[in-house]
Amino acid sequence: MVVAIRAGLVWDGTGSEPISNGVVLVDDDRITAVGAASDVEIPSGASVIERPGEFLMPGLINAHTHITIIPLGNQSGQKRRPIERQALRGARNMRRELRSGVTTARIMGEENWIDITFREEIESGEIPGPRMVVSTRALTPSNGHGRATSAFDGVDEVRKGSRENLIAGADFLKMFLTGGVSSTRGSMTAASYSREEVRVAVEEADRAGTYVAAHCVRGFGIRLAAEEGIRTIEHASMATDDDLALIKEKDAWVVLTQAILLHPTGIEQGDRNNPAVMARLRDARSQASERLRAIVASGVRYAIGTDSMHGLMWFEAERLVEWGASNQEALMAATIRAAECCRVEDRVGTLEPGKYADMITVLGNPLEEISALSRIGLVMKGGQRFDQISAE
Ligand SMILES: [Zn+2]
Repeated sequence: MVVAIRAGLVWDGTGSEPISNGVVLVDDDRITAVGAASDVEIPSGASVIERPGEFLMPGLINAHTHITIIPLGNQSGQKRRPIERQALRGARNMRRELRSGVTTARIMGEENWIDITFREEIESGEIPGPRMVVSTRALTPSNGHGRATSAFDGVDEVRKGSRENLIAGADFLKMFLTGGVSSTRGSMTAASYSREEVRVAVEEADRAGTYVAAHCVRGFGIRLAAEEGIRTIEHASMATDDDLALIKEKDAWVVLTQAILLHPTGIEQGDRNNPAVMARLRDARSQASERLRAIVASGVRYAIGTDSMHGLMWFEAERLVEWGASNQEALMAATIRAAECCRVEDRVGTLEPGKYADMITVLGNPLEEISALSRIGLVMKGGQRFDQISAE
């Protein structure tokens, strides 16, 4: 079954200029052609979707999110709730992600192997949701930030935990290397794992042909991560100029998660009754615009994610523009850069023949007005439409 989607503007995400009156041809779940309507012949019998006045672009890739949690405070506690409650909340969160234009999501740590279950149920069409790149259980020490039920202490436990995650189907490994803003566990100056423990996770990931992503907000954990070959550094919201220089030298990625810090429905709302978390939030916010500007200006490779917020990729992209990124760079951070960061750029991230037919339309032109990204029209994943589903 061939489908042609015609739109006022087609932005393929490769860095090329948008095409006026463009068309994308889809055969089954793949893209077969992209170009100007005058150059692409629509086969007879194809079904045609007309989106005049809309901006057609690759589906968004949320490079750092979670299935089962929302910013209600006590995120680790949410991962200790009965599994059926976590599944129900997760199904709602993933529907919301998809409806907001997210066709691929990298999942940054779940208990009970629930991310494997979601990946399979979404792939089989049982429930709607984005394609998933999953890490299964996060590697964190007994006293670390992000610890829900699982914990891994010492080189041997980190090694065994890594191997168990990989055999269960983890696409990559997630490790917590510093404290965070949303809990008071874990130091913001020292790293939460020793160099030997970090090294063993990187070694095991490498042995399995994958990589480690590490939660690092500030302090020595960032340096340790970069020095030991961690590939993606999550948050980095208070990285110093020296940290950024090291990240750049090591060619690691930074994944920015700004909504949880800056949006009024993030930590500000969820943890309003926790004075210690509020103090961490104020501290992080007081440095945010300076530090996030420094990241954008530093030349490090970056992508964006919404963390436990769902449906806010537009907010992440809007902030990037505020810190000095061009609109095109912000859109790329939400598409091809995120695909590269998550190592799925061979399948998704741009509108090119051979890739999955994952695409959205925006009501407006986000290359001129980035906030248009909050107005999503069509949502297609693997050639299937999802824009009729409810976001709630
Ligand atoms: Zn997270």
